[in-house]
Amino acid sequence: MSDGSAMNGIHDTSPVVVWFRRDLRVDDQPALTAAAATGRPVIPCFVWAPDEEAPWAPGAASRWWLHQSLEQLSRSLATLGLRLILRSGPTLTTLQQLVQETGAGAVYWNRLYEPAIVRRDKGIKATLQQAGLEVQSFPGHLLHEPWAIENQQARPYQVFTPFYRAVQELGSPSTPYSQPSGILPPSRWPVRLELGELNLLPQIDWAGGLRDTWTPGEAGAIEALETFADSPVAVYKEQRDFPGVQGTSRLSPALHFGEISARRIWHTCRRNPAAEPYLRQLVWRDFAHHLLYHFPHTSEQPLREEFNHFPWRADTRDLRDWSRGQTGYPIVDAGMRELWATGWMHNRVRMIVASFLVKDLRLHWMEGARWFWDTLVDADLANNTLGWQWAAGCGADAAPYFRIFNPDLQSRKFDPEGRYIKRWVPELAGMAPKALHDAAALPHAPDGPATYPSPMVDHRKARDEALTAFAQLRQLP
Ligand SMILES: Cc1cc2nc3c(=O)[nH]c(=O)nc-3n(C[C@H](O)[C@H](O)[C@H](O)COP(=O)(O)OP(=O)(O)OC[C@H]3O[C@@H](n4cnc5c(N)ncnc54)[C@H](O)[C@@H]3O)c2cc1C
Repeated sequence: MSDGSAMNGIHDTSPVVVWFRRDLRVDDQPALTAAAATGRPVIPCFVWAPDEEAPWAPGAASRWWLHQSLEQLSRSLATLGLRLILRSGPTLTTLQQLVQETGAGAVYWNRLYEPAIVRRDKGIKATLQQAGLEVQSFPGHLLHEPWAIENQQARPYQVFTPFYRAVQELGSPSTPYSQPSGILPPSRWPVRLELGELNLLPQIDWAGGLRDTWTPGEAGAIEALETFADSPVAVYKEQRDFPGVQGTSRLSPALHFGEISARRIWHTCRRNPAAEPYLRQLVWRDFAHHLLYHFPHTSEQPLREEFNHFPWRADTRDLRDWSRGQTGYPIVDAGMRELWATGWMHNRVRMIVASFLVKDLRLHWMEGARWFWDTLVDADLANNTLGWQWAAGCGADAAPYFRIFNPDLQSRKFDPEGRYIKRWVPELAGMAPKALHDAAALPHAPDGPATYPSPMVDHRKARDEALTAFAQLRQLP
């Protein structure tokens, strides 16, 4: 343990523990860079303690991704002469044990901003400091820290456009660090668990679609960024709303797990003068974290309190049909099936399926948020909360509840040829595009696809009912 000898002019040679969390990279890794800069031995560790994030412990798809990402991180660290020490158990005691076993004098990490994590990390920091350790946390997850931006009344923003303007006024986010080199390993490595012992992979292998779709890990993220920043970023504005083309970066899981930093993305894309619409979208991620940090109750409760009284329906059958992509609305079903198969869904379609759940079916937005949480490889508490509250009309800068997406019009506009629908709803592959945008008129057995369900609700009727419910809410004192 450090005895503060460095302060007395004697060189401290005790190791520094770098606690990896959702920063599973070696590029632009401020905690690792700072540890390397001490010239002391570095011990990278990862602690699996999902209960500490309850009720938002990583879902099944996230755990699958995490397994792959940790594997890749171990490889990257090995090229730096380091080992990733995997442990499982309550984080504080696990870190204390590691410090004791290795004689470490310091623990460094990069900050996260979800309420349960902030609470836990503050406690860990205080306890380790009381024990005489040097503890440092660093900013590395966002472009700017959630508290770095405030409005003229020194309050958090609740509307995106002024938030974005404030971000622009701050100028470029700080320059990313390059990968450190010449890092000293400890004289003896502490024991570690094998990755398989964390039991992150599913018992029954349902992850074939995820394996076929993704290359988790830092190298895959850097490659995806380079490809995207090369030219697709320049046509992002025109293409980003069309799920039938690959018009977005698909970097969301890599960003969530910190396989690549937002700052690295920013500085790489900025080289392209047409990148502004994309960078603006990246700032939505900062905005989501800003909101969750300042309004920590919103992962479970609506930001707009009156929505606590909204007459949500409870219907497990409807919820099941929605989650399985059996609503009878082709664009909704395509989205839900893409999600199930690949762990990801296009943003435009996320908005459509979310609107369908909270408005056409009038089911609680939390039901949707929970399903997404379990099935998305990019499940992210800040972004998911913002997305669902936006769709339900109960969050910051949300779509007003009375503005209700018509799924047929949405698919006509954003998937005119039905390319996306036909890919994910193969039983409709033989239909003319026009037919795909008129759910009520789709032929069913015996003239049409035998297995495709008829619409579970009449959109026009459901819309009227939703508006009535909303009108009742507005009459409440
Ligand atoms: C109901 C709903 C739930 C959502 N849940 C999540 C979630 O759990 N995790 C998640 O990362 N995103 C979520 N989003 C936001 C958005 O759909 C995804 O970030 C985006 O589709 C990811 O694809 P991409 O990386 O190709 O995005 P790009 O268009 O390439 O954007 C680049 C990055 O910017 C950020 N970003 C883009 N749009 C948004 C947005 N609207 N809000 C916040 N950040 C954004 C993401 O980190 C994204 O990776 C949700 C949106 C909705 C409507």
